[in-house]
Amino acid sequence: MIFPYEPGCLMTVNDLSMALNMPPALKSIIRGGEEIEQSLPRYAPLRVHRAADYEGRPGDWIMPRSANEGTFFFCVPDEIEGQPPALWIDGGPLDRSQNDTAFTVSFQGVDAITGLKKDSPYLLKIEKNCPKHPETQLTPAGYCKDCNFTWPPQNYRARSADWIKVNGRWVLFHWLDGWNLGANVIRQLVFTRQQDKIVARHVIGDKVVDALAIAVFRSRQPWQRPQDEIVLRTDPFEKSEWSDNNILKGVSRGPMRSMSYGLEKSVGARPKPRIGAAAGAKIIQGIPKDLNPIDYWEKEPAAIFRVYWVDQDQLKEILATKIGGTGESWLARSKIPVGNLGNDPISM
Ligand SMILES: [Zn+2]
Repeated sequence: MIFPYEPGCLMTVNDLSMALNMPPALKSIIRGGEEIEQSLPRYAPLRVHRAADYEGRPGDWIMPRSANEGTFFFCVPDEIEGQPPALWIDGGPLDRSQNDTAFTVSFQGVDAITGLKKDSPYLLKIEKNCPKHPETQLTPAGYCKDCNFTWPPQNYRARSADWIKVNGRWVLFHWLDGWNLGANVIRQLVFTRQQDKIVARHVIGDKVVDALAIAVFRSRQPWQRPQDEIVLRTDPFEKSEWSDNNILKGVSRGPMRSMSYGLEKSVGARPKPRIGAAAGAKIIQGIPKDLNPIDYWEKEPAAIFRVYWVDQDQLKEILATKIGGTGESWLARSKIPVGNLGNDPISM
């Protein structure tokens, strides 16, 4: 069972679909002076729009250059149920693909899983040496003494690794909720207008963009997924088997693509994003290790999703410029009864 998203909530590029959810931000819960980790936020499917359908889209948005790319946008309201809006990315719909899939996410130019600057789509495995300190060996758990940080096993979520046996059943946990903190904890992605809280500004300064980019890679070979699945969100860490430590073997990285997300081109136009992605409350979520070698995956991403966000006023302006105008006419919107004045309509 895959969560039944409405078509307007699915982003599809090259037959690969992703969805976004926008629940209210969780409030941090402090116990004994320490913030505790909370379980996953709920489904709240987010309506997304295809940028190519709107003449009035901002001129600095990067539009698709091939069938492997898609440009979308969504609205960030001021608040939801009195809280700032949060976001999580659902790779569950990728489960329709016959091949295994991996997705990697850049929020405003920063890798959500590694915290490294990221302006092009690539898969990175972090297995032996620190990505920031190439001379420093990581412990088997991925800890770098120079960073004082435990690195995740890779910068992406792999569907085959996200199929996890819980209480004897295979369950798919193929999603990302925010900024990875390294120890099975994520801080929720929350939208804010407080510039000092925008994570990417602290990592890449003025190069931040008001967009996120998701790249999906396919495995070279078809992949047989486990059966009896549940993909709806539950508490994934109850007696799960994914956290086994495996043998770690040195950093390997997918080929660095000459292709970039191209998002940085939009910097000049809007040097200071009005809305950005902050790190909210702690959520229990890990990055299960992909046991496949890096060349298990295709070299090129099969799909790149560039996703921009706008506020409510901008949304209204852009939606009013739909190309081909399949929207309702003013007469339909007015709810004035029309047709069939006096005579029965003719049925054919
Ligand atoms: Zn380091």
